[in-house]
Amino acid sequence: MNFADSEVVGSILQGAGHEVAESLEDADFVLINTCAIRDNAEQRVRHRVRELRAAQGHNKSLRIGILGCMAERLQSRLMAEEDNVSFVCGPDAYRRLPQLLAQVREGQRGTEVELSTTETYADIEPVRLASNGISAYISIMRGCQNYCSYCVVPYTRGRERSRDPQTILTEAKGLCEKGYREVTLLGQNVNSYRYEAVGFPELMDMVAAISPLLRVRFATSHPKDLSDELLEVMASHENICRCIHLPVQSGSNRMLKAMNRKYTVEWYLDRVESIRHHMPDCSITTDVIAGFCGETPEDHAATLELFRRVRYDYAYMFKYSQREGTYAAKHMPDDIADDEKTRRLNEIIALQGQIALENNRKEVGREYEVLVEGESHRSKEQLFGRNSQNKVLVFDRKDAVPGTYRKVRVTDCTAATLIGELVNENQ
Ligand code: SAH
Ligand code: SF4
Repeated sequence: MNFADSEVVGSILQGAGHEVAESLEDADFVLINTCAIRDNAEQRVRHRVRELRAAQGHNKSLRIGILGCMAERLQSRLMAEEDNVSFVCGPDAYRRLPQLLAQVREGQRGTEVELSTTETYADIEPVRLASNGISAYISIMRGCQNYCSYCVVPYTRGRERSRDPQTILTEAKGLCEKGYREVTLLGQNVNSYRYEAVGFPELMDMVAAISPLLRVRFATSHPKDLSDELLEVMASHENICRCIHLPVQSGSNRMLKAMNRKYTVEWYLDRVESIRHHMPDCSITTDVIAGFCGETPEDHAATLELFRRVRYDYAYMFKYSQREGTYAAKHMPDDIADDEKTRRLNEIIALQGQIALENNRKEVGREYEVLVEGESHRSKEQLFGRNSQNKVLVFDRKDAVPGTYRKVRVTDCTAATLIGELVNENQ
């Protein structure tokens, strides 16, 4: 999400005559786009801000601005605490950045943190700042009003609003014409996308129809809103990727209720079954939180049990981090000791590692159409790409070229990567 937002910011600033600087010595501004979801994300930003003091010593005109959720959450408090920060700008105020930068240049400090109920940056064509020219993010909605009790997002990104589908289609078509082969539609809860008569299944249908060469992915799906209608649309388009990120958060109904997730374990498992019914080859991934308020050893055991049942291909696993202003911070004691949270988290990580490895071992011998993305980190002689299930495959380069589709046979694996070889389709 922040990556996509940074590309919108890039576009707004380029439109105002700014350019990307090659180095800190050349730069007049450093903009840091931030996340406030857990405390450790914020601590990393503070670290970075303090490190930049050295660069500011060498380059006296260098000013620092904080964008995104941390700016929204802390507002001018952040400038009081980090005195080398010149301005903060929240996620709905990026159109005001050119004025803000001008003001800061004149020696003032600035705060732009107003949230909007309508801003979607629909008319702004993002500059693809760090793009590989192959895959791109398209933001389709902003904000969230689900108010999960642990989560700061509804407070930092405002109310949910969806972007005009015509502008999404134009952006996706433009990318496809430029040679992009994959778009990921982004929102906090894409299943509740709605713009007049167009819901998420209809939007997916339209984006997938642009070109069979353009893969379509999306994130994130809230389990409460994952409809069979969407699964039917997915199943009917080969270029909609067979991968659904379906954050569960906990395997205990008691915890799900306390988290205000609005579904039960039974509902969740029914959705998983429906995914597998519509698309037997669909990979499922998740997010989970260990050590939420009042989590008992039984609740934790229920999460492990759920992981064993679903057998996710990948999971983002977190320790609960209390966020100021949320319902949980106000009304529920953060009562699991940190070392116990860590212990539970590590148990989930170990189990998930084992499941991912077992899942990957079953892939050995299978063949996949892979979108080649680039050189592997380990060797220039090897390339990597992803299959429709979003699994990374690494293989010897031979005559393969990034940005094209190639068939790859899986020959070996680790828990994180499939190792394979190109299948020569002419033989
Ligand atoms: N909108 C998405 C999630 C966005 S936040 C959804 O509802 O699925 C990404 C993930 O961060 C969440 O799924 C959750 O697992 C985690 N998260 C959010 N708030 C957290 C907190 N206070 N402590 C720990 N993890 C948190
Ligand atoms: Fe946060 Fe819940 Fe909204 Fe996801 S759905 S962003 S976890 S409040």
